Amino acid sequence: MAVDLGVYSLAELRDRGISDHDRDAFLRAGSLTRVRRGWYASTTAHDDGVAAVRAGGAVGCVSALRHHGFWIPPGHDRLHVRTRFHRTGQPTCMPYGPPDPVDSALDPPFTALRSAARCLSDEDFVIVADSILNSTNYSMSDLGNELRDAPARVHALLAKCDGRAQSGSETAARLRLRARRIRVQVQPFIRGVGWVDLLAGSSLIIEADSKDHHTKRVNYQEDHRRDRAAAVGGYRVLRLTYQDIFFNWDNVFPDILDLIQRRVHRGRLRKAAS
Ligand SMILES: [Zn+2]
Repeated sequence: MAVDLGVYSLAELRDRGISDHDRDAFLRAGSLTRVRRGWYASTTAHDDGVAAVRAGGAVGCVSALRHHGFWIPPGHDRLHVRTRFHRTGQPTCMPYGPPDPVDSALDPPFTALRSAARCLSDEDFVIVADSILNSTNYSMSDLGNELRDAPARVHALLAKCDGRAQSGSETAARLRLRARRIRVQVQPFIRGVGWVDLLAGSSLIIEADSKDHHTKRVNYQEDHRRDRAAAVGGYRVLRLTYQDIFFNWDNVFPDILDLIQRRVHRGRLRKAAS
């Protein structure tokens, strides 16, 4: 379902069957307010939509991707606004490619992704692209096509994307381990255990928790069952929290390296318990 921030252009109001006469009545009654010329907010409008339209643009880039429900890495609380043309003195997120008109208060996912490709760090871009691949029917070639005007750097990043990743934490761990030449498989199925996030070598399972994971008791029980089955099968399980990955990596990575150097990832496997 389309995300509605409660801020509408005049054309959008008309598309919804609201005549100019109705609109004036709503304005008098206070159920609509004018944000700027040709743009109106409902009483339940989202602050981001109001702020972006007031700034002459739309909620764009990583902020729009957040509103569309994709996984967003930490550090992007600032509102990213896209305006059609660059405005001096105003930070805006310009997408690669020809300028799109601003005809909605919220940029659609692909416009937002084309801005994010310019605005985000390499890792953060792969995280949001993975999330789009994982939670929509879009393929890698769809993304490549949308980003056709982006430079080679972005296409090299797309080649690192993997829509099987279940969270941005998992994506970050994968990228960082591979950058250090540690081979990891993404979401392999292990008999008796199930799908695991990452498998280093043949026997080191790395589970990367998404932020809101572990809040449900069922996960707690199931995680412990999986760990037991993995141990019986000869695997070692390393559970990394969101905090570990995004705020404590400098301490976490030496531990992983230590396990790798002791060849824990090359352990002898037994038939896993079922
Ligand atoms: Zn941006």
